[in-house]
Amino acid sequence: MAASLRRPLVAGNWKMNGLKASAAELGSIMTGSAGLSGKTDLMVCPPATLISAFAGQARGSGIAIGGQDCHAEAAGAFTGDISAEMLKDAGASAVIVGHSERRTLHQETDAEVQAKAQAAWRAGLMAIVCIGETRAEREAGKTLDVLGRQLDGSLPNGITAANLVVAYEPVWAIGTGLTPTTLQIEEAHVALRRALAESLGEAGAGAPILYGGSVKPGNAAEILKVREVGGALVGGASLKAQDFLAIVRAAD
Ligand code: PEP
Repeated sequence: MAASLRRPLVAGNWKMNGLKASAAELGSIMTGSAGLSGKTDLMVCPPATLISAFAGQARGSGIAIGGQDCHAEAAGAFTGDISAEMLKDAGASAVIVGHSERRTLHQETDAEVQAKAQAAWRAGLMAIVCIGETRAEREAGKTLDVLGRQLDGSLPNGITAANLVVAYEPVWAIGTGLTPTTLQIEEAHVALRRALAESLGEAGAGAPILYGGSVKPGNAAEILKVREVGGALVGGASLKAQDFLAIVRAAD
């Protein structure tokens, strides 16, 4: 696996899937991960309703629990929203911000994503900042421009590498079974590493850049070997412990 200064991370984004009974799936992930080398960090990001229970269940297992989104404010009249402080209070140690489903379905802008990442830091959470091009943008040859603009616009002010993970997730690869070629992944990750180094100096080497978009047991090893890929953000395949563990094993 290509290196950042931090350990590789495989994070599962459960999206709007999971009920209390899903504790059994987390239990299987915990049991299965006990036999791994321990070189890779594992995270499960369940729906907000399960964070508290999952954090309690996973305590001591080395599996981190993350949120999938947060509001930029700490508290207030924002019906239905959840703050970074609330996620932290429930036991989360990280939160995904700027996922393409939030950007598309909730029209979230880079500025809003930046404010959410800032809120994550304020609350003591690691921010997993997602960026990625659409199919039209890739076909128009604009991928690297789009990624540069999103990265610039979405990273919190006063950025340090300590609590930051960047996830490169081509929108057209999410949930479709399609993936970029390993060369295309490498091109994007190397450009992102360069941009991070420009904004962060030497510390830019420290933030892992995850790849996300149709990662499965069958393609994980090949993707995780690509230069500057520091782990994976996994959607659909993270819902089954067996598949998720197979991906972690490929990273390990
Ligand atoms: C995601 O939603 O972050 C994701 C990568 O989904 P999938 O693995 O299902 O493509």
